[in-house]
Amino acid sequence: MKAYEQALSLAETLKLKGVSRSLDEMVNDAESRKVSYISFLNSVFSAEISWRAKRRFERNMAGAHFPMIKRMEDFDFGGVKGIGKSDAVNLLDFRWIDNKENILFFGPPGVGKTHLSIALGVSAVEKGYKVCFERITNLIKLLRTSEIQKTSEYRIRRIMKSDLIIIDEIGYTPIEKREANLFFNLISEAYENLSVIVTSNKSFETWAEMMGDGVMTTALLDRLLHHARVYTLDGQSYRTKKIKNKEE
Ligand code: ADP
Ligand code: MG
Repeated sequence: MKAYEQALSLAETLKLKGVSRSLDEMVNDAESRKVSYISFLNSVFSAEISWRAKRRFERNMAGAHFPMIKRMEDFDFGGVKGIGKSDAVNLLDFRWIDNKENILFFGPPGVGKTHLSIALGVSAVEKGYKVCFERITNLIKLLRTSEIQKTSEYRIRRIMKSDLIIIDEIGYTPIEKREANLFFNLISEAYENLSVIVTSNKSFETWAEMMGDGVMTTALLDRLLHHARVYTLDGQSYRTKKIKNKEE
């Protein structure tokens, strides 16, 4: 076996995918630039490390289940009250995830709650954090079925092992008492263990009504709000604003 084929086969045995993919190129480059043994070795290790980082990012993006990709740089802070550019810059350092703090976005439909949540989630994945996005309706469905359905059980397990859970659209649909209890248990487990972003079109004073249990809702909010940054957004819906602009 020629030396090159042997190296390739050894890399494959060691499951060094990054090395096997770029070995040819690295060898050619090293030969043409006459690099030292040690710097060649460094480029081999670096190729493997960056391949693994890229794969991890792709896996974590897929596992996050973002419904679409949104970026902070596409968010127009001029059109919304309650959050500013400097808040966003602050949030993008992710100390709140390291400190297991929560973020709550309140406000009427269309002001950018989901956009901001996803933008933070995507940046967090880029920084290496594990993130899961779920609309509350689906999260509750997963909790309800996790004991009888393997896919739900896996998803809940991934959610609980994340650094950040994004729970979108609390308040659009009422939650039954039994379901609210399952949700409460999840938040209790998450409390001080991982960060949660919650978006809601209802102020938390009205959550008890939506969940049908005042005592439990108080305990739930107690945990969510203990270490939390709350942003109450306001402004015209971006959706209708866009339609209007098109008409003009
Ligand atoms: P909400 O979750 O508050 O109902 P979304 O985040 O879903 O609102 O926003 C609705 C749409 O308008 C999305 O396509 C979003 O990207 C866009 N959008 C909302 N606010 C802004 C903003 N301030 N700058 C740019 N796009 C925005
Ligand atoms: Mg939304």
